[in-house]
Amino acid sequence: MVTYKLPHKEFFANLKNGKLLGLKCNSCGAYICPPKINCSECASLDLEIVELKGKVEIKSYTVIRVASEGFEDEVPYIVALAQLEEGPGLIGNIVGVDPDKITDDVIGKKATVGYKLPPSKLRYRGPIEEIEPEGLAFTFSLA
Ligand SMILES: [Zn+2]
Repeated sequence: MVTYKLPHKEFFANLKNGKLLGLKCNSCGAYICPPKINCSECASLDLEIVELKGKVEIKSYTVIRVASEGFEDEVPYIVALAQLEEGPGLIGNIVGVDPDKITDDVIGKKATVGYKLPPSKLRYRGPIEEIEPEGLAFTFSLA
């Protein structure tokens, strides 16, 4: 049986404590984040857990104004594609910026990775460690 070197539960428990973990491939040197079972570049299973700097550059964004089910109280919000200094791309929400005032100037800006909980309607009422990982979203706070 193949096991996850860095299970999502452990990944999110660390993120909650301000530590962004990732995996480094010992075959090709690529970084992987969020964690996967094997290397995104060469499919190797020879991975080690590393701490990433948690710094990204904003590559693209869009403003969500039409909510999907459960997100009615969240709109408008900003979804962005960002690239970690170590290479991998992350999708998350830009926070601390008014969605009605954001401009393309944000592209190329540096930001710090954090996380946010799912909307309360979708939230499992228990300890954060038990929240389904898919329910958490990355956040990007502009530097
Ligand atoms: Zn690799």
